[in-house]
Amino acid sequence: MQAAKLTFIFCFHNAKLNVVHNYKENMIIFRHALALQNYLRKSSKPLKSIGFVPTMGALHAGHLSLLKQSKSISQLTVCSIFVNPVQFNNSEDFKKYPKTIEADILELESNGCDILFLPSEEEIYPDENSKKKHYELGYLEKVLEGKFRPGHFQGVCLVVDKLLSLVQPDFIFLGQKDFQQCMVIERLLELTHRETKVVICPILRETSGLAMSSRNLRLNSDEKKTATELYSSLLAIKNNLAKNNFSDLKANAISRLEKKGFKVEYLEMAKRNDLQIVSEFVKGEELVILAAAFLNNVRLIDNVLIN
Ligand code: AMP
Repeated sequence: MQAAKLTFIFCFHNAKLNVVHNYKENMIIFRHALALQNYLRKSSKPLKSIGFVPTMGALHAGHLSLLKQSKSISQLTVCSIFVNPVQFNNSEDFKKYPKTIEADILELESNGCDILFLPSEEEIYPDENSKKKHYELGYLEKVLEGKFRPGHFQGVCLVVDKLLSLVQPDFIFLGQKDFQQCMVIERLLELTHRETKVVICPILRETSGLAMSSRNLRLNSDEKKTATELYSSLLAIKNNLAKNNFSDLKANAISRLEKKGFKVEYLEMAKRNDLQIVSEFVKGEELVILAAAFLNNVRLIDNVLIN
């Protein structure tokens, strides 16, 4: 624990050491899995419930809403920041993934995070074998995100499986923003017979409607304005579903998005419980409309729930 505190101070030594002293230093940072495990085994369970918020950093209010939710129902909250290389099917996307680690640490600490796990790649994947596990995700990794990002969900499962085995949380907090990922992680929990409960938190949006995302940092101000069209297109479909047929609404939305410069990968309506694609709206059925589109070279995803 002492070593971890020193690491924390060291983190800031090159940046703004004076800023650190403005905060009550009560968040512990672990870089090593073993130290984190030792700490959690000795000091938390069975006395405390552990909430876990896995992230890839470049934190925004959406991430912090997960932390807040965790703090409201768990006694100890662990966040992790790890940009997981094996879930990127595009090396350019991985290289350009925003990194704001010093600001992230300050945000987490000032928002009451108890523990931050900040591992290196070697810590998560000590050897090549540790990247070879395969998870039977079936249909879930063949559709929507799975279809356009082959291997992505296997990479997500690898890292989340590893993190869950280290933290052994009672709750894992995930964002509805990554709707399909929530389902994949629920499947992972089944496959690995873990009792961790998934808590899905609503999508936090900018006042413009744009879903908050770390990748938004790669958009310039004009692109940010255009990016709001993705959500408004989904809303337009949702609001007109009762009177119009979905395929017409979908075609209109795609053409509107393309005119604004988007390259749409998919825009589909699916059943919420199993992501089976549906072509017609049935009143009373729990559905979700999901989309992924590139704006220049930034990939955006969003979804809206339909009751
Ligand atoms: P990421 O850092 O992108 O891997 O996201 C970490 C967690 O934050 C995931 O569970 C995301 O679904 C969630 N998240 C990302 N964006 C938002 C948002 N706008 N609102 C709520 N949760 C979000």
